Amino acid sequence: MAENGQHFVAVIGAAISGSVAAELLAERGIRVAVIEQNKRPYGKIEDGLPRWHVEQRKQEYHHIDERLKKPGISFIPCTKIGRDIDFQDLCSNWGFSAVILANGAWRDRDLGVPGAGDYVDKGLVYQNPFIYWYNHKNERDYRGPRYGTPDETLVVGGGLASIDVVKVLQLENYERALSEHGVQVSMHDLEKGIPSACEAHGIRPESLGVKGCLLIYRRREPDMPLAHPPDNPTPNQIAKTEQVRQKMLRLAREKYLFRFQERRLPVGFLVEDGRLAGLKVVETRTSGRNVEPVPGSEQEIRAPLVISSIGSVPEALPGVAMKGDYYTFTSEDLPRYAPHGHVFGVGNVVTGQGNIRVSLVHSQKVTNHLIENYITGKGELSAFYAAAESRAAGQAQAVSERIQTLPALAPAEFTALENRVRKLQERVGYASDYDSWIAKVTPPDLE
Ligand SMILES: Cc1cc2nc3c(=O)[nH]c(=O)nc-3n(C[C@H](O)[C@H](O)[C@H](O)COP(=O)(O)OP(=O)(O)OC[C@H]3O[C@@H](n4cnc5c(N)ncnc54)[C@H](O)[C@@H]3O)c2cc1C
Repeated sequence: MAENGQHFVAVIGAAISGSVAAELLAERGIRVAVIEQNKRPYGKIEDGLPRWHVEQRKQEYHHIDERLKKPGISFIPCTKIGRDIDFQDLCSNWGFSAVILANGAWRDRDLGVPGAGDYVDKGLVYQNPFIYWYNHKNERDYRGPRYGTPDETLVVGGGLASIDVVKVLQLENYERALSEHGVQVSMHDLEKGIPSACEAHGIRPESLGVKGCLLIYRRREPDMPLAHPPDNPTPNQIAKTEQVRQKMLRLAREKYLFRFQERRLPVGFLVEDGRLAGLKVVETRTSGRNVEPVPGSEQEIRAPLVISSIGSVPEALPGVAMKGDYYTFTSEDLPRYAPHGHVFGVGNVVTGQGNIRVSLVHSQKVTNHLIENYITGKGELSAFYAAAESRAAGQAQAVSERIQTLPALAPAEFTALENRVRKLQERVGYASDYDSWIAKVTPPDLE
């Protein structure tokens, strides 16, 4: 109760990590305001996981809803830290007991070739806006950028997200080619496997003339970060993980018919009329974690579009100190933001995506099975979310223990924060309850 001195915590970002942290804090009697930049709170689940994962997305939306509706949690949508609220002001002057950053990893890692910025949307596209477009492009009110999906697009990547990107391209290419042959096949049918979808209409995929998009990766095929070994792996576990990676790539290529080249590193651009017309790449030699260009191996890969999918890192927020691509958190178990004793992080914002260790999912065998399901678009993915949730919960637990050692707020301070939260909600028209808000802001044709 406020009268006894209570804590009030601001959580930035309302998706998996933010909602898990908010629920855990609220269950411990801590009052929580969850500040989210978007109208809807689902983060990477809605805007990053491709829309063919229909059931998984619905399930996870439901979990996030259930958490954010818990007593003691206020949802503040359409409010962006760094635009609507100054981060330093929030941390230093508003009076929250603690601030938890749960704002994920939304900035694409730079392609790494000097001058890449000059070609964005002139032949070069990054993965995050591309998948956002793909997930929302069929909504009547979608007003964002639109992207082409030409055959022979070149994708730079190697992780799960880059497989998603090349898969999107291939689904679009075959849907178009089939349609030109007078055959309408849905994305959902093609997603089950392009050869089987074509054969169901008596068409051989080769007869459609699609050359296929090309995925390039800078290391060897068995190094692709599609699956991860457990911590402190044995040589046997490393060998198994490498086999799983190769199997996943094989499965994905069989189903979606894309081309692949390992050990290719972008080093320059092919430019025509101010637009990117492809990449200059070199072959590489790898030893351990080192990747070295092979002298004299430069080649040109022409492509109508280049998509860079080499990882997501946190967006720079004005006033937030960074070390390289990341905010300055002290550790991964209790991620405290170094410059402020009462600011913490949970989820993807701490380490970016791709760092869930296999140990968090029941066993490596289960993980491998899940990853295959992910590639082939079937089956249960809930263990992945369970891993993301469990990591966020572990961090939130450590954060909540630390918060309880901080001085509680006086009743007047608490009331002042309640008033601020109400004003923020009123500002964006959040007038009644969570369910009514979600119903109001969900596009009727959201896929
Ligand atoms: C096959 C598969 C593999 C997966 N692999 C991994 C993995 O390797 N690693 C991993 O961590 N997870 C993985 N996941 C799980 C999951 O996709 C993500 O972990 C999880 O969605 C990330 O949640 P988050 O809340 O940390 O970040 P997000 O979902 O990105 O949520 C952040 C939220 O913060 C909001 N936000 C951002 N900036 C601001 C701001 N300035 N002000 C206010 N709000 C803001 C965003 O709008 C968003 O809603 C995987 C899932 C699947 C299905």
